[in-house]
Amino acid sequence: MAADVLSVRLITVLKYLNHYPENIRTQAQKLLDEDRMRELLTQKYPHRHSIQSNRALYDYAMDLKKRFMRKSSPLSKVQYSDKVSALNALGTHSRVSRVQGGKLKAKKEILIDSRFKSMPEEFLRMIVVHELAHIKEMDHNKAFYQLCLYMEPQYHQYELDLRLHLTWLEYSQL
Ligand SMILES: [Zn+2]
Repeated sequence: MAADVLSVRLITVLKYLNHYPENIRTQAQKLLDEDRMRELLTQKYPHRHSIQSNRALYDYAMDLKKRFMRKSSPLSKVQYSDKVSALNALGTHSRVSRVQGGKLKAKKEILIDSRFKSMPEEFLRMIVVHELAHIKEMDHNKAFYQLCLYMEPQYHQYELDLRLHLTWLEYSQL
């Protein structure tokens, strides 16, 4: 009986790792079972970042954009939001059309899940890079991931570790 309850809990939280191979999911399950996940991630990423306000987040995203995507369309808004996780997402990007001085202007807006406020900078960078890349590439295709890797060479590692972190976070709250 107890084992069944535990496996239901694990299936629920392992959703963040759905797209990873079986061996990674098994490893994650083992780390949770043995209560080692938190320690492992804290050792690897010991510091939280200090980008707490929406203003600081906007500057952070603009800095990355200026360095790697100078020519792409401007960003009008980058903010933390509590509503993003309800959409089953970590971040969102949208194009908002507004009339400005008689002209229709398309503006890009990015929202980042508020949980990223209390995470290591590497995870914040990963999600900001992801949403910035969507300015150019709408789909998760090869060009999209190439752009992500150009902005952050460790993109894939950070994404996996972020997903492990989220898995642990939800598991510890069950
Ligand atoms: Zn995406």
